[in-house]
Amino acid sequence: MTKYKLEYIWLDGYTPTPNLRGKTQIKEFASFPTLEQLPLWGFDGSSTMQAEGHSSDCVLKPVAVYPDGARTNGVLVMCEVMMPDGKTPHSSNGRATIVDDADAWFGFEQEYFFYKDGRPLGFPPSGYPAPQGPYYTGVGYKNVGDIARKMVEEHLDLCLAAGINHEGINAEVAKGQWEFQIFGKGSKTAADQMWMARYLMLRLTEKYGVDIEFHCKPLGDTDWNGSGMHCNFSTRYMRDVGGKEYFEQLMDAFKTARADHIAVYGPDNHMRLTGKHETASIDTFTWGVADRGASIRVPHSFVNNSYKGYLEDRRPNSQGDPYQIASQILKTISTVPTGAKAAA
Ligand code: ADP
Ligand code: MN
Ligand code: MN
Ligand code: MN
Repeated sequence: MTKYKLEYIWLDGYTPTPNLRGKTQIKEFASFPTLEQLPLWGFDGSSTMQAEGHSSDCVLKPVAVYPDGARTNGVLVMCEVMMPDGKTPHSSNGRATIVDDADAWFGFEQEYFFYKDGRPLGFPPSGYPAPQGPYYTGVGYKNVGDIARKMVEEHLDLCLAAGINHEGINAEVAKGQWEFQIFGKGSKTAADQMWMARYLMLRLTEKYGVDIEFHCKPLGDTDWNGSGMHCNFSTRYMRDVGGKEYFEQLMDAFKTARADHIAVYGPDNHMRLTGKHETASIDTFTWGVADRGASIRVPHSFVNNSYKGYLEDRRPNSQGDPYQIASQILKTISTVPTGAKAAA
């Protein structure tokens, strides 16, 4: 038997953006534990905005498990928060009720800022560094500093050790701003991985004295880019059948559901979706081929492949909840009728 360090991780009850929380328990297993072997656990909901009335006990229900590369015999356990009966989802538990489809693929592009001493990493104590231009995909100390790359590389290794589908990294447009991409099949699987990747980044950067700023427009109304979390998505029908007519109906449905999407695409998105800095205005829905100023960008490959493949919704922001984002996209897609081939 081996003693495993189980880190139970969950989303708290803060609004509009939940925080990640985690605590450790040690349990013995013969080998790396499966989800089914992991017991329910509890925590004090009165300290996380999750207490209901006089009873402050909430239950943690494991829903996904990953190896923890930062700890010997470490296990990362993604949890849903349940009521004391262990069966009823807590009101803060958005994951329990989302729309899922194992054949829907999601690729999230998480942008964020490294922050140190209350400002983006690499910004001088007052004023601004050289304007945007050389930082995106940049190299060299004057562009990326000395510890950012170390952190993103360590984060990449932690994600890969956990079995998370980390797909890539790039330095972003603003100084101190970076991106990583996470891919998953099914809304719950993809979003679990994104939340776990966020957790790993937050935990990793503690030792560097660096914070992660997920707000979508931390520098306000300036010439510094905001942060998004573009959501690339495809259903089996979009990949296998597609077609121009279906695509146009899909875009009509997205236009009709514009407000429902914006409602779950992250707080303060009006600060970011201004029509500037490679964004579309929050008040209109647009799509365009290879257009980074549209709400939805249609890749060239999609058009060249008879309107089959994936689309990129550029509106979700860096603080958005991937569970809700993926679910809303599937809800809107489900309003568009598919041909008989869809059932195959
Ligand atoms: P860009 O910065 O050009 O918008 P990225 O390379 O950062 O693009 O992200 C594109 C993401 O699209 C990748 O991370 C990948 O996971 C995702 N993706 C690729 N193919 C599909 C697909 N068929 N369905 C859903 N997502 C996809
Ligand atoms: Mn990208
Ligand atoms: Mn980007
Ligand atoms: Mn993108």
